[in-house]
Amino acid sequence: MPEKVIIIGSGPAAWTAAIYAARAELKPLVLQGNPDDDRNRQNGTLPLGQLALTTEVENFPSWPTGDTRQYLKTSLQPEDMPYWVEKDKPAPTHGINGPELMALMRQQAKNFGTRIESKDVVEVDLQKHPFTLTLHDGTTLETLTLIIATGARANYLGLPSEDKYKNYGVSACAVCDGALPRFRNKPLAVVGAGDSASEEANFLTKFGSKVYMIVRRGEMRASKIMAERAKNNPKIEIKWNSVVEEVLGEEKAGVTGIRIKNLLGGPDETLAVTGMFCAIGHTPNVGFLDGQVKLNEGGYVLWTTVSRTYTSVDGVFAAGDVADDYYRQAVSAAGTGCMAALDAERWLGHHNLL
Ligand code: NDP
Repeated sequence: MPEKVIIIGSGPAAWTAAIYAARAELKPLVLQGNPDDDRNRQNGTLPLGQLALTTEVENFPSWPTGDTRQYLKTSLQPEDMPYWVEKDKPAPTHGINGPELMALMRQQAKNFGTRIESKDVVEVDLQKHPFTLTLHDGTTLETLTLIIATGARANYLGLPSEDKYKNYGVSACAVCDGALPRFRNKPLAVVGAGDSASEEANFLTKFGSKVYMIVRRGEMRASKIMAERAKNNPKIEIKWNSVVEEVLGEEKAGVTGIRIKNLLGGPDETLAVTGMFCAIGHTPNVGFLDGQVKLNEGGYVLWTTVSRTYTSVDGVFAAGDVADDYYRQAVSAAGTGCMAALDAERWLGHHNLL
């Protein structure tokens, strides 16, 4: 018997889709990814997704500041409890952090009967119905509808020193991390010259004492209005024709600076920053689709109908960052996860497959 709905992914879109699909009694199966594959660790595609790699989440509604330990203890199963909950650690002042938020979302999906497997999908056959998925262990599954919620991974420069300080001053999301205490009133750096970099640099001037933009060419890629906004902001200094060669830091303090190289032969410089934000684009996790679902020009899954999660394949839906090159927020991903589950349920009803 094929599954009614399989959800691939493990972020806010996947778990919200699972909560809705489970409550619609579709008995969803979530393929949350293989935790033992190092490529998933590097790509941010481990179970619980990109948010599991972050610290405080201050912009997901309903989690104001406070000590959430008691709540976590009464909501999560013991095996999913973050290690610090049981330890004698100072009470957190934040409301929720990324791993906690994701563990709670998964728990909520489980509570309504979602089944979960820690498997990677390596191949799909969407040409015939039911759809067939091949997993990394060679097993296959059939499903009547499919929700793709595999997310997108932020691009980083790929420097070993950068990897070392991820979450300790190196970030790829100013909106998520910019307001953290470590960045307040300190010089910061943004790498990139697109709309994201311009927007993030402007945003970070609210918190940092100064923001450097590290631009590898002599011009910006950003739209004129966004580029002008960055150029005219007195707190932003643009380092043209420059690339980051090394992230400098200390074990306890995290990032303390970056060393940049001038590509036109000028002298190397060290900038004393406490944060480096990469805004050099994202890569959606679509490899396993092997071209069977239409993508937009940026490589993201294309929604073929406005305000619907429909893809180019009837019965296949997409939610979250894998289909969103614009907002990329946890709460917007959760919203489209809900939409995808409702779309799948209606599709099954329309085809008398409920
Ligand atoms: P883009 O692909 O537009 O820009 C990426 C930037 O990163 C480019 O300036 C690129 O340099 C630079 N870059 C890439 N790799 C490296 C590297 N290894 N080292 C240094 N620099 C590097 O991505 P964005 O995320 O900025 O934007 C994606 C899409 O989202 C765009 O369509 C954008 O318009 C849209 N967007 C719109 C916003 C708005 O309208 N408010 C806000 C944010 C995004 P180079 O220019 O030399 O190639």
